[in-house]
Amino acid sequence: MVKITPSGNITEAVRILRQSRFTTAFTGAGISVESGIPPFRGKEGIWNHYDPKVLDIGFFIENPARSWAIIKELFYNFYHAAQPNAAHRVLARMEKEGKLGRVITQNIDNLHQEAGNKMVSEFHGNLKKLKCLSCDREYNAIKINLEELPPTCRECGDILKPDFVFFGESIPSSALMESYEAAGISDVFLLIGTTGEVMPANQFPPMAKANGATIIEINPEPSLYTNTTTDLFLQGKATEIMKKIEAGLFSPSLNDN
Ligand code: NAD
Repeated sequence: MVKITPSGNITEAVRILRQSRFTTAFTGAGISVESGIPPFRGKEGIWNHYDPKVLDIGFFIENPARSWAIIKELFYNFYHAAQPNAAHRVLARMEKEGKLGRVITQNIDNLHQEAGNKMVSEFHGNLKKLKCLSCDREYNAIKINLEELPPTCRECGDILKPDFVFFGESIPSSALMESYEAAGISDVFLLIGTTGEVMPANQFPPMAKANGATIIEINPEPSLYTNTTTDLFLQGKATEIMKKIEAGLFSPSLNDN
């Protein structure tokens, strides 16, 4: 039975996290909102302004210049400037201090790695790399001139595609395997800033719960998980709640108990 406690039961969350043997953080676009990156869905979501077909692999292959023009505007004009926020940093500290086993992220922004997390499964790839559609040669996106679109491969001349998962593409097999493993071994799944609408990523929190994990959720709004899967809902922004969790988790007085 879900406990909805506005800005609330941090103490309970800290108790659960402290006792956990293996915690997995499962993150969505919401954790990066306070780094200045808009989510896809919701009131401020980008799909209110753009047609999602630009990220369909079939459309991209047929219309690379049209897709790239929007992709550049959506991702490459400002993502490089985004920095990890306090929520990313607390997850990195938790991993370093043995309180977090893995991050499964649906994000493509690289901010978990930039904050310092090492055990990151990128369910939808990463935008910092571009890959040639023909010869698979990889490029660092920041070094590619995006003034002329679409960008092309220096080796074979074919189109470069951002190395994140487009609609119609498969999930990277390593991320899939690591997610199955995490859903099998975790005793806590910490959901941060995800609607639960994106398949197949959304199957992992219920799977973890079925395997005995406690589900803690952080989100300013209820999600599809809140009344179905979540055990403890902490309503609020990722940075605000994660800073409180950090204070509880690493406070010497509490650690003495
Ligand atoms: P979503 O866009 O569907 O939902 C965002 C969620 O974040 C919502 O539930 C919203 O209430 C919550 N949220 C908003 N502000 C928040 C805050 N300050 N703190 C915590 N939560 C907050 O996100 P999704 O379910 O992760 O799916 C979108 C897909 O789009 C992802 O799979 C990802 O591939 C891609 N995406 C990635 C990025 C990124 O890399 N930063 C950004 C947008 C979209």
